[in-house]
Amino acid sequence: MLEVKNLSVNYRGVAALEDISLFAGAGELVGLIGPNGAGKSTLIQAMLGLVPSRGQVLFQGTPLRGRRRLVAYVPQRSRIDWDYPITAGQVAMMAQASLAGWFRSPSPQAKQRVTVALERVDMLHLCDRPIGQLSGGQQQRVFLARALAQGADLLLLDEPFTGIDKKTEALMLAIFAELRAEGKTLMVCSHEWGDALHRYDRLLLLNRRLLADDTPEAVMTFDNIQRAYGQGPQTTAKLTPYADFFC
Ligand code: ADP
Ligand code: MG
Repeated sequence: MLEVKNLSVNYRGVAALEDISLFAGAGELVGLIGPNGAGKSTLIQAMLGLVPSRGQVLFQGTPLRGRRRLVAYVPQRSRIDWDYPITAGQVAMMAQASLAGWFRSPSPQAKQRVTVALERVDMLHLCDRPIGQLSGGQQQRVFLARALAQGADLLLLDEPFTGIDKKTEALMLAIFAELRAEGKTLMVCSHEWGDALHRYDRLLLLNRRLLADDTPEAVMTFDNIQRAYGQGPQTTAKLTPYADFFC
């Protein structure tokens, strides 16, 4: 189980996250939702120790810090430099290199793990392509393969459903279901607001503070939209127009 206790992050003296406490159980798919700039990416990066924070992050009862091999991270696509000259296969192999030590060549077992993972996401045939030349959905599948090959117990995915095709979405949902059945813990950031949020076991609504933590039905209320988006929408029409507020 993942447990975050009283986590706060400041960027140059400005609070990005204040006193966040949450948990995510084994076999649970948790959605982390909130408006642009709410701190979703910051929360994931703070859990990984990539940005300085106060508070505690525990996994299976002990601090997560220094136990990176237990955690797979799929970064937000918009934050990746796609001009970097690296192939899809090399991206999928990256976690293996850091597990073995950067200057060792990967073992045959590591190569096999990556091959199986690329096959699972139907990307093995494109493994020699530069990552920057793939479609958004294909890039997302390569990062998912990297996470799968790592064999982590905790998966943190930042906006994996943004800018992808239907095939990738279906494939990711099938893999998420398998990972839950294996008892993995999954936390997924999302800007979506709508029926798709019912795919999560639980939703955490974030805007600098944790505003709600409950089932999708309980979190997806008009009141909660207003609490998360300050002024709230300009119209009292259906929820879909507010999807623009999430990105
Ligand atoms: P989200 O992922 O929910 O869109 P972010 O975590 O990216 O939100 O950002 C939360 C807030 O922190 C925003 O106000 C953003 O401008 C700020 N922020 C994010 N990263 C940095 C950084 N490296 N330096 C300074 N401010 C940052
Ligand atoms: Mg983000």
